[in-house]
Amino acid sequence: MAIKAVHQCQCQECVNGNNPEMKRLHHQMNVLMSRLDEQERRWYAAVEAKRYGRGGITLVRKITGIDDKTISRGIEEMSDDLKNRPTDRIRLEGAGRPTVEKKSK
Ligand SMILES: [Zn+2]
Repeated sequence: MAIKAVHQCQCQECVNGNNPEMKRLHHQMNVLMSRLDEQERRWYAAVEAKRYGRGGITLVRKITGIDDKTISRGIEEMSDDLKNRPTDRIRLEGAGRPTVEKKSK
């Protein structure tokens, strides 16, 4: 299994290095992210963005590197309790097959 690089938080606090505790937390969020699949990352980012409230999407984008559009989509999906998402691992029909998986990078 390819090891994915853990994203480095780009939030102001972490960039300034004034808050080691927050930096550790944000690092752990990114470690967690690195082990989740695409939709799990989106939903976790969505939950975090909601938790931060105003400006949450921007902040989560800086922490995780996930773009605003993806986080917004996650928030939308979470807002109806993922009712339109399959509970198994199979992709939604019509979502298109993933292009051939890259074996290594
Ligand atoms: Zn940070």
